[in-house]
Amino acid sequence: MSLISEINEKAKKIGRPLRFMELCGTHSQTIAEHGIKSLMPKNIKLVSGPGCPVCVTDQSDIDIVVGLALEGIPIAIYGDTINVPGNLMSLEEAGRNGADVQVMYDITEAVEMRKQKPGLVFFGLGFETTAGMTAWAVKEGLIVYSAHKIFPPAMAALLANKDIKVDGFIDPGHVSSIIGMEPYKQFRLPQVIAGFEGEDVLLAINMLLDQILSGEARVENAYTRLVKKAGNPKARKLIEEVFEIADAKWRGLGEIRGSGLKIRKKYQKQDAEFVYRDLIKKIRQEIKPKPSACKCGLVLQGLIESKDCPLFGKVCTPDKPQGACMVSVEGSCNVEYRYNRK
Ligand code: SF4
Repeated sequence: MSLISEINEKAKKIGRPLRFMELCGTHSQTIAEHGIKSLMPKNIKLVSGPGCPVCVTDQSDIDIVVGLALEGIPIAIYGDTINVPGNLMSLEEAGRNGADVQVMYDITEAVEMRKQKPGLVFFGLGFETTAGMTAWAVKEGLIVYSAHKIFPPAMAALLANKDIKVDGFIDPGHVSSIIGMEPYKQFRLPQVIAGFEGEDVLLAINMLLDQILSGEARVENAYTRLVKKAGNPKARKLIEEVFEIADAKWRGLGEIRGSGLKIRKKYQKQDAEFVYRDLIKKIRQEIKPKPSACKCGLVLQGLIESKDCPLFGKVCTPDKPQGACMVSVEGSCNVEYRYNRK
């Protein structure tokens, strides 16, 4: 029997409406690319969570890095970040205004570049998946503004919000390759770690249904070709050596205790928050929040779908994004626009 037939049969047996949330932007992309939502039985709804690292980066972090760029500090970033609108402007606009903003495909480029551009700041963002590489670069002497985050506290925040109804999580494959299975066990609902092919996602949905049918709530790994039970202890050790846990602001979710990664005092000469503390203090004081109709915060919590935002596809498109969720290729609005707008 095919996976689709199995899913249909099991969903029928369960009968009630089910909502499964995918927690990785690449899963959102896979689901859209393969039309998986259209293959689901009527009582299964797939919703996206806060799995896109660019999307969850708080507005204030974007504003600070834009502010540093405008003050003449050379900035290195990963591609998608350049177009995220800030309260004043995006990094792309800052570049057009004469700021030195360099897009990197690999953090090793930034480590090399700092030799020609002393004082260069790398905008470190992303989850456990990229934090290890940033930790390595800090040890190599790169100055970093860290907006890195760890994922499980965001899952806890989602579950604490009674408006967010979720029957199962499709846990993120990339993050899991670092943290392993253990950190998810605190959450009492069905969870399956999934890979990124269409079949991987279908398999995860099928396994979630099995758990619901048997009345169980556990963590299963359907991505064994990459994710080990214990994750990657070497990468975690490197992250722990360079970073300490701190509170962090997430777009849409607000401040979440213990969800951020702050550079340890031992490496403060590589911490932009220390090196440029006076400048950052001034930039923070000057930030003037701009009113915005963007509903990215609600999209990131699965409370609305991208197409429910009145700006979607009209005022807000990938060419003219009004919010972070339309910028990144992993952002829910961007994915929805590219694959499903018709
Ligand atoms: S469509 Fe654009 S404006 Fe609306 S929520 Fe998405 S990113 Fe924000």
